[in-house]
Amino acid sequence: MNTHDALLRLRRDRDLPDEELAQLISLENKETCQALFDAGDAVRRERYGTDVYLRGLIEFTNHCRNNCLYCGIRRDNAKLERYRLSPEEIVACCETGWGLGFRTFVLQGGEDEHYDDDAICGIVMEIKKRFPDCAVTLSLGEKERESYERFFAAGADRYLLRHETASEEHYRKLHPASMSLAHRKQCLYDLRDIGYQVGSGFMVGSPGQTAMDLVKDLRFLQDLRPAMIGIGPFIRHRDTPFRDFPSGNMLSCLRMIAILRLMFPYALIPATTALGTISPNGRELGLRAGANVVMPNLSPVHVRGLYRLYDDKICTGEEAAECRSCLSRRVSAAGYKIAVSRGDVKNILQTHKKILRKQKDYLEHY
Ligand code: SAH
Repeated sequence: MNTHDALLRLRRDRDLPDEELAQLISLENKETCQALFDAGDAVRRERYGTDVYLRGLIEFTNHCRNNCLYCGIRRDNAKLERYRLSPEEIVACCETGWGLGFRTFVLQGGEDEHYDDDAICGIVMEIKKRFPDCAVTLSLGEKERESYERFFAAGADRYLLRHETASEEHYRKLHPASMSLAHRKQCLYDLRDIGYQVGSGFMVGSPGQTAMDLVKDLRFLQDLRPAMIGIGPFIRHRDTPFRDFPSGNMLSCLRMIAILRLMFPYALIPATTALGTISPNGRELGLRAGANVVMPNLSPVHVRGLYRLYDDKICTGEEAAECRSCLSRRVSAAGYKIAVSRGDVKNILQTHKKILRKQKDYLEHY
């Protein structure tokens, strides 16, 4: 394969045959990797300029009914001290965040039945009432379609649910038999159909993953066409069954970010905390390979260390304001600027009015 030529074609066609994608995914040569990152950066500048969007992350519960083999907050991790934030605490995080220029709040947690649909709707409605110019993103895992509809009617704008891996076989290695890729995909299609801006994504370097598995992830994303794509390296956690597997590496993650940018020019792609955890300048390099979102932590400091999905997670000691200013500095140093806005996906704006109408329909229904 002539890599230079493949890059040109990927940029032009937003696609390549499987074998060529697999080769780009596994590129080793330093110069060609840099050419891939530069192409990712160029496409992102074409579509989004130097804007980087902020998402304030509120990790509101580390209780989880699931038992994913890679995840530190899995049900069977008896060593973990569990916590839940009250609705008042969650809204207080948003209040702090609003003052710091956040216009998107992401509520993320384990699959915790303590918060029933009414509780989630109540929290979403309160946030939308207090901060009407903000977007609310939920990341609560797999739910019934009806629950997703109710959250949407309550005002939730976006939903993040990584598919984790689009290979059936690989999915079964990462998850207990009670979970299925088919169900997770169905959730994503339901969310999209309801009108959410949907985010999906996967881990890079999870145990047993091959380049062809990653090609399958790209093919699934082509089918789903999500507004957001979140990826990060797998990082081991000492109290999980995957404790002895090596963590993913930064370069393969950067290559994936650049490939995603070339295939999905409009996608919102975060430079994730996991990327910053495996390498001190991982997030900056992520931005330079095509990422355009950062997600500073807005959770109260006393629970930060407890939302431990993997070992050595960064940003667990700082107040929200410190986290925000640290990331601003990093974004500027990398050559970009933070935009104080909701940061909606650009090609969806035309359909935004339609989505709002749909939200109103649901509202009348419930
Ligand atoms: N319960 C929610 C939120 C999950 S946590 C849901 O199911 O969507 C958010 C993401 O963290 C997961 O989707 C997973 O991709 C990532 N994650 C979990 N454990 C990890 C690990 N050990 N290393 C890297 N990323 C991990």
